[in-house]
Amino acid sequence: MHTDIVVIGGGSGGYATALRAAELGKRVIVVERDKVGGTCLHRGCIPTKALLHVAETVDAVREAAGLGVLAELQGVDVSRMHAFREGLVAKKHKGLQGLLKARGIEVVAAEGTIAGPGRVRAGETEILATNIVIATGAYTRVPPGLEIGGRVLSSEQALELGEIPASVIVLGGGVIGVEFASLWRSLGAEVTIVEALDHLVPTEDETLRTQLARAFRKRGIQTRLGARVATAAQDDSGVSVQLEDGASLTADYLLVAVGRGPATTGLGLEEAGVRLDRGFVVTDVDLRTSVEGVWAVGDVVVGPQLAHRGFQHGIQVAERIAGSTPAPVADELVPRIVYTSPELASVGLTRAQAEERHGVDAITVLDYNLAGNARTEILGGSGSVRVIRKTDGPVLGVHLAGPRVGELISEAQLVVGWDAHPEDVAPLVHAHPTQSEALGEAFLALAGKPLHVL
Ligand code: NAD
Repeated sequence: MHTDIVVIGGGSGGYATALRAAELGKRVIVVERDKVGGTCLHRGCIPTKALLHVAETVDAVREAAGLGVLAELQGVDVSRMHAFREGLVAKKHKGLQGLLKARGIEVVAAEGTIAGPGRVRAGETEILATNIVIATGAYTRVPPGLEIGGRVLSSEQALELGEIPASVIVLGGGVIGVEFASLWRSLGAEVTIVEALDHLVPTEDETLRTQLARAFRKRGIQTRLGARVATAAQDDSGVSVQLEDGASLTADYLLVAVGRGPATTGLGLEEAGVRLDRGFVVTDVDLRTSVEGVWAVGDVVVGPQLAHRGFQHGIQVAERIAGSTPAPVADELVPRIVYTSPELASVGLTRAQAEERHGVDAITVLDYNLAGNARTEILGGSGSVRVIRKTDGPVLGVHLAGPRVGELISEAQLVVGWDAHPEDVAPLVHAHPTQSEALGEAFLALAGKPLHVL
């Protein structure tokens, strides 16, 4: 077999590369050992958000009486909940397969490895290609002394759990940890998060960390910060965990969510001369590896491990291969959303990063409380908008907390991505009543024309 491009891995980064390259007239083969759509579609973004929607519905039923709606929560039918999740994923999977087929992209169902310059082995087949794209994604990291199995879950098993656990210990207060904590708490479980650092979602801006901590406290989610697991044991009835500080915890299950590492072993990368750094593929800004004709996209490239970054990487590499000069993906401008209740959404620099880069006196921070926003009040939530600007300069970062604020990040992303000054965007009218008005209020205030802000 011979082709212009062979992509190893059919997840977000890999299939985006294939779609864009085919659109640009290239012959593309995708080698995928499991299912196209990868972690995001089958074991990550999509199924978790389906379950989080169930959680949101459960919360809405619980709160319905306050709105005069006489509904009573009788329970959650776990098998129907999973049928909803599976149905959704199956539909999207079918859609993606159709799309790949329609663009004339061949998918080879096999484990792909690099066999040499311009050569990929896919099971029994050898594919000769002018370009090879590594898009193999990431795997769940497991701390020493722990092993996934039985009552010790990775997010993959957690998604498919056939019961609503009475109690869970979540190891790691990053994105996966807090999303599952939020989900299980809504479904009625007792949840304890064990996080090694001093905050949940430690890489987010302080205002988001504080609000998530406050909301979780109110919801009865326990947290053990600055704590690590020393040992864990399980039997038929549950798991018991010893923390390094001597405390011990017991629960039905333990979820391990301490980060994901690049899936780059066993691919023949180093043998082919592709340089790795702590397992990540080393690339230049155009996502070229150290070997001519070999590229890398998505989670195998160090940076935020997000599906939408993978999509954009794929587009970038396909366009490069096709001879154009697309702008490199700027990791700092990739929006981030944490789908907890409340949601968190952010783009650009945190306050700490902005202070470090520009100096404490060179930035202005505006916090707008969503208590002043009618739509948020109607949705029954609370939260905030934080906009950070370079004083007399562009917006550097936007950080949102509140119900459904993930849907607001696109405006923030354009403002930050286009280096807009609050004065540029303040005259643009926001519809009323919407939560997006809160962003408008923040821009108005930063432009020196506060409307509903003191
Ligand atoms: P993460 O890096 O977001 O969080 C891991 C957390 O575990 C960190 O807070 C870390 O301090 C903590 N930790 C590490 N070792 C520990 C230990 N031994 N004991 C206690 N705590 C420990 O990783 P994740 O939550 O596993 O998620 C993996 C990747 O998947 C992330 O890069 C994330 O962006 C991505 N993801 C994104 C979304 C989303 O965009 N909504 C959802 C899920 C996952």
